[in-house]
Amino acid sequence: MKTAIYPGSFDPITLGHLDVIRRSAKIFDKVIIGVLNNSSKSPLFLVEERVKMIQEAVKDMEKVTVESFSGLLVDFAKEKNADVIVRGLRAITDFEYELQMSQLNNKLNPDVDTMFLTTSVEYAYLSSSAIKEIAKFGGSIESLVPENVIKPVYEKFQITLS
Ligand code: ADP
Repeated sequence: MKTAIYPGSFDPITLGHLDVIRRSAKIFDKVIIGVLNNSSKSPLFLVEERVKMIQEAVKDMEKVTVESFSGLLVDFAKEKNADVIVRGLRAITDFEYELQMSQLNNKLNPDVDTMFLTTSVEYAYLSSSAIKEIAKFGGSIESLVPENVIKPVYEKFQITLS
């Protein structure tokens, strides 16, 4: 029984994240999405809102559960008896930071390894910050985020859909 944790801010979840989740669920017996409650960032969505939106987006995936966490990722992984941390790699620019984080996490807890899934090309350009930037100016995010996420994002920017 292999358990993976897919951690992130997911502010908000995108189709790129969902692609990584789907692919992880094919590899592992259990996938826990860890939504980071990070007090030093000021997110668009409260952590509870992010958890709810992700739960709705993954409701058909039996192996996948969603939880929030704060503090060290390795501690959360230990608490959940996870074997692997999954991260997505979009471009070479992600690599340096991710390499450092995975080595640091392995130093803090040698029992947990990090595995990287490279992004499917159709989502390589997608990020939560791009979604926020597009929505803020009324651009279309329909093909970039799960269906249930579209309205809440526009609402945060007080944009009403016609
Ligand atoms: P963080 O703040 O920890 O970077 P994010 O929510 O931005 O959290 O991302 C969580 C994880 O998902 C990271 O591993 C990131 O590289 C990956 N990710 C983000 N966008 C995409 C995408 N479009 N395709 C695949 N993976 C992605």
